[in-house]
Amino acid sequence: MGCSKWYMSGGEPMLRPDFGEIFDYVTYKAMYYSLNTNGTLITPEIARLLRRKGAKMVVLYGATRDVHDHITRISGSFDSALQGLAYLKEWGAGFIVQIIPMKDNYHQFRDMVSLAQSLSPQWRIGASWLYLSACGDHDKNNEIMRQRLEPKDVIKIESPDPSYHEWTEEDDGHRYAHVNENDRLLDSCIQSRREFHIDPYGQMTFCSFIKDPNLRYDLRKGRFTECWEDFIPSLSDKVKGGGDFLEDCGSCELRKDCRWCPAYGYLEHGKYNAKVEYLCDVAKENRNFKDDWIKNHRRYYHIAGITIQVDSDLPREITLRGGETFSQRADEQINVKIGNAGGVNLIFNGEPLGPLGGPGKIVRLSLTKSGYEFKTRDEFDAPGSRGEATPADSH
Ligand code: SF4
Repeated sequence: MGCSKWYMSGGEPMLRPDFGEIFDYVTYKAMYYSLNTNGTLITPEIARLLRRKGAKMVVLYGATRDVHDHITRISGSFDSALQGLAYLKEWGAGFIVQIIPMKDNYHQFRDMVSLAQSLSPQWRIGASWLYLSACGDHDKNNEIMRQRLEPKDVIKIESPDPSYHEWTEEDDGHRYAHVNENDRLLDSCIQSRREFHIDPYGQMTFCSFIKDPNLRYDLRKGRFTECWEDFIPSLSDKVKGGGDFLEDCGSCELRKDCRWCPAYGYLEHGKYNAKVEYLCDVAKENRNFKDDWIKNHRRYYHIAGITIQVDSDLPREITLRGGETFSQRADEQINVKIGNAGGVNLIFNGEPLGPLGGPGKIVRLSLTKSGYEFKTRDEFDAPGSRGEATPADSH
């Protein structure tokens, strides 16, 4: 087929007894490959094969044996995965640890990150939210829904980069929900296709997320070129948005903040044009995060007729000159470091706080709904202590 890049995934690809043979064949001439595995079936022989340059992603569902095995429902899977990783290390085959946070392991999220970091210099979050299974099994999908994180946690672990998104959205309009004027929901994916997906049963289509049997081509009964040149392009006309789409995602003001795509609509409700309620909640959190970030991190400077926009992750720093004032409103807390306590009059919730220190004295304060308290340097600089301003009205 002349493919230079291969992506191998599952389920678990190593369940196939001929995995080594297939891997050897497809990667022998490949420029790039990536492989997703749970690591439990990696043997020394497979580890030796996996030395070939490419991305090997091994998944972890917990930081401890009990949590990982509870999620996989396979006793011993944690130990087997670590054994597989040990084989990879022994053979010098670098790998990426993927962690999948969900309800039943989120309490040890930080430990999962630490474990991943101790196992490999490369790690990533494999999925910050869980989409439903195409099998349509009611119990299985209910359990997947139960395991979904709170939307605010999804955004916490995979925070948007507001500046970056603004740039890319200017370029392509919307990252997730491209829909053309002809109401063809899958058109942009099909027109821009450079990849195809073949499942273990020889069913081919343009995207691994498309599980609908009507949009897959049986390679055992036809030819690859026919699928690529005729069948896949013909799918554009098969999936239209219609009135439902226009009422929901098609006219949604959160679309730019939403991860929705037609394939997720299908997996969730069996309809490509359906909204995914969980993603609506994630999109709202995403929008809130971006709005807060811009409020607290973006500043504009007007210099010689030019407006300069500055986005910074650093806390906001202000230099006041004699007689100048500055006010800040917050929902929960404001942390303030004052470089010259003798030169500042601080008014909090309308009340002057009085002298905070002498000239040149540095003080650190935490202002909350219940009042204010002085902080030591260590307390003030501790991770997470510089909470964003947000319900006490603080001035
Ligand atoms: S899934 Fe919800 S938030 Fe996302 S585009 Fe559709 S209606 Fe809007």
